[in-house]
Amino acid sequence: MYSAYIQRFLAQHNYINVTPRAALIDMDGTLYDSMPFHADAWHKVISDAGIDIDRDEFFRFEGRTAASTINIIFQRTYGRDATPEEIERIYEQKCHYFSSTANPQPMPGAKDMLDFIKSIGMTEVLVTGSGQNSLLSRLDSDFPGIFTPEMRVTSRDVKHGKPNPEPFIMAMKKAGVAPNQSIVIENAPLGVEAGNAAGAFTIGVTTGPLRRSELEDAGAAIVFDSMVECAEQLPVLIYSLITTSNNFN
Ligand code: CA
Repeated sequence: MYSAYIQRFLAQHNYINVTPRAALIDMDGTLYDSMPFHADAWHKVISDAGIDIDRDEFFRFEGRTAASTINIIFQRTYGRDATPEEIERIYEQKCHYFSSTANPQPMPGAKDMLDFIKSIGMTEVLVTGSGQNSLLSRLDSDFPGIFTPEMRVTSRDVKHGKPNPEPFIMAMKKAGVAPNQSIVIENAPLGVEAGNAAGAFTIGVTTGPLRRSELEDAGAAIVFDSMVECAEQLPVLIYSLITTSNNFN
């Protein structure tokens, strides 16, 4: 039932087929309903610095590293990048606001999705722009046995971060797979853009205020309207991926 989406993806990337062996999975807004808390913490720390900014804008920055987010705001306001000291101070305060107020819950459907992917023997790699210890340390209790320490790419591992494909390329190396052996699961336009640029079959999931067309425009091969729907449809989608190949080559 998904073969039209898959054929379009194969043609766009010049692939003969996709044989999924690894799932590269985002954290905030995908595994956890954490984005509203991140937006609040960012909005508070940037307002503290005397800079006027709309809270919803932080949903469009989602996926960027903290340094990249702060530099965009500084460039716009002051016409320069922030200094390393400014970045450290702002990010530290942002993490403080986040961890002292946020109580994000696992996204409904996320655990079912992860358990299914594991059950069919695929490798799962966490790929997040976050370095937020308060959430990273909860992964083992909320999703036990899924992400081993070696199978995590966080903001500490990458130079560029999303929307650059670097974090997903690094995840493919960790899993020992090629781009056409990878699927990406993402909720944010910049994350979708990075996954598609890395050559992975990128599944967009709308879990926040942004519209599905923003994920389609960013390059999602397919978009689901919730993580519950994603978890329900994934068995059929994976089966379709395995059985569909590009007959035009
Ligand atoms: Ca996200």
